[in-house]
Amino acid sequence: MEFGDAPIVDAHCHIGYFGGWANVGISAEELIVLNRKFNVVHSVVFSLPNSLSADAARKYPKDVSSYVWLNPFDGEKAVDELRASVKERRCKGVKLHPLFQAFIADDPIVYPIMDEARRLKVPVAIHSGHPPFSLPWSIGELAEVYPDVTIVMLHMGHGHGLYIRAAIHTAKRYSNIMLETSGMPMHTKIKEAMETVGEDRVIYGSDIPFHHPSVELQRVKMADLKDGQLRKLLHDNAVEKLGLVV
Ligand SMILES: [Zn+2]
Repeated sequence: MEFGDAPIVDAHCHIGYFGGWANVGISAEELIVLNRKFNVVHSVVFSLPNSLSADAARKYPKDVSSYVWLNPFDGEKAVDELRASVKERRCKGVKLHPLFQAFIADDPIVYPIMDEARRLKVPVAIHSGHPPFSLPWSIGELAEVYPDVTIVMLHMGHGHGLYIRAAIHTAKRYSNIMLETSGMPMHTKIKEAMETVGEDRVIYGSDIPFHHPSVELQRVKMADLKDGQLRKLLHDNAVEKLGLVV
């Protein structure tokens, strides 16, 4: 993979084992070894239980930052966990998975978490691309209610062409949305997003262990970005917009 010497930041990884239909897993140590092969210098990790990613970030602060994965149905408990994670466990953001826990991305049940994320000034990463819960339009509605919270639309619409199109249109409309590239099959849409949404609003992610960086980076490579755009996508945007210390 020839991206020059540019260090890469991966904005979407998991550690631990995901059973059921997925049957995939990776440890923090295995993730770091894999990253070195691809010049990935830092990964944002979210896992369940949250202690997995928090422990990895504590043990390997140069390699890993953690987001806390919250369930809005936990109410005040989720808000407390967010506060404690950021203040005591160096957590850098929130992960929400509307499909996994069956809530619409912009349902008011999410508001207490968004309120606290705003207070703590941390980004909120939200899975996108699966109906009915995690569609780009719903994430846009949430972005409209919280214009001062950075929302990372994970997978930028994922595998469905209409959702990818909606992800780009929605991010264009709401300047607090960042698009993340993992699992999105069209290399052409990476370039389109950079050019229509903005060069500083698209970030690289792999979704390890669900996907492999060789595949995810190959798509970026084929996107025909200019050198400056590439560095922003692979490194600078994540560092500057997500407040990572790399
Ligand atoms: Zn993921």
